[in-house]
Amino acid sequence: MSGPRIAVVGAGIVGASLAYHLAARGASVTLLDAAEPAAGVTRRAFSWINIAHADPHPYEALRQAAIGDWHRVEAELGGAVQVDWCGALAWEEDLADTRRQVAHHAAAGCDVRLLTRSQIADLEPGLVDPPRVAAHAPGEGAVDPVAATRAFCAAARAAGADLRFGAQVSGLIDARGTVAGLTVDGEELAADIVIAAAGMGSVDLVRGVGVDLPVHASPSVLIRMRVEHPLVRGIVAGPDFEVRQGGDTLLLSAASYIDDTPENGPDSVGRRVLNAVRAGLRGGESATLIDTEVGWRPMPDDDGPIIGFTSDIGGLYLAAMHGGIILAPVIGRLAADEILGGHAVDALQLCRPDRFHL
Ligand SMILES: Cc1cc2nc3c(=O)[nH]c(=O)nc-3n(C[C@H](O)[C@H](O)[C@H](O)COP(=O)(O)OP(=O)(O)OC[C@H]3O[C@@H](n4cnc5c(N)ncnc54)[C@H](O)[C@@H]3O)c2cc1C
Repeated sequence: MSGPRIAVVGAGIVGASLAYHLAARGASVTLLDAAEPAAGVTRRAFSWINIAHADPHPYEALRQAAIGDWHRVEAELGGAVQVDWCGALAWEEDLADTRRQVAHHAAAGCDVRLLTRSQIADLEPGLVDPPRVAAHAPGEGAVDPVAATRAFCAAARAAGADLRFGAQVSGLIDARGTVAGLTVDGEELAADIVIAAAGMGSVDLVRGVGVDLPVHASPSVLIRMRVEHPLVRGIVAGPDFEVRQGGDTLLLSAASYIDDTPENGPDSVGRRVLNAVRAGLRGGESATLIDTEVGWRPMPDDDGPIIGFTSDIGGLYLAAMHGGIILAPVIGRLAADEILGGHAVDALQLCRPDRFHL
């Protein structure tokens, strides 16, 4: 092994992907997690690999590249990562918004088209009342986020990375304005580059060296329902629910967290989604709620990923984002390119920490 010693803090899907991509290129990598792989928000993700949903996004090019990178890691990891490329059907309350979004994303080169009601009914016969139009992105899919994170970790280890779980990083070592390593379990680990990929944990971690990471915890609810047989073929996201099968008898949904009052708490949100599924999907009447879980997403203050070296502190590379499932493989590849190649990659230009003066 040659080159810089790199410590990656956090084995969520983002850190695990970074560790894999760096180790696969021969870097000396240590991946540390306070718990185990995917113990953070990653295991609570709905895990939709989507690029053409909702309004145009400044990071659209990166998201579009993400699909190709998921196909690449599926091939590289030899079946250890399997995306269910089931396609996604989505529509907004106001169908004019759906038309506008499809027009935009299609013009930007996304594989997305507007379907009519009868086409929607053919595609998703389980819908009781298909909308008049919906966006269909046949190339989108979903992945088991825990399995994918574990697969990245295993591939990183096979490529020579040192993986340490149950290893809480308590601080970074600041050697006169340059990060020289970190402290873990009361011991110092020297590193030339530390990558903060600890989800919400990165905020405290980098504060210790004077970096005020503009990331807040944005809650979202993952809802698991038991069904007797598959109710949908792909991902279905409308105003009443966003669902996908997580297995033949498991239906997954994600919904907005509102607050913890009895009428809005996660269980109430879960029951509302369950009722919408019972009313909106054929066979949904017998669905039952398994559980609901709130995940705290690391949300940059302007919603965009924060990726790259900070200007103020040498040797500190930040990787904080929402949409971490979508982006993990593409970010892993591009970050490895620039960290090991020694020059900034254009594709990450919009993601730079210096837009926040970091
Ligand atoms: C309901 C819901 C639905 C979602 N749906 C989607 C979706 O469809 N598509 C999508 O792309 N994204 C989705 N997300 C967001 C996605 O889950 C996150 O963007 C992604 O998982 C972030 O991964 P991460 O690796 O950055 O963070 P995390 O998964 O939180 O990983 C951080 C890791 O760092 C470790 N750690 C923290 N502090 C320390 C420390 N000091 N020392 C050592 N280890 C530490 C933690 O143990 C944890 O394992 C969803 C989230 C939720 C809650």
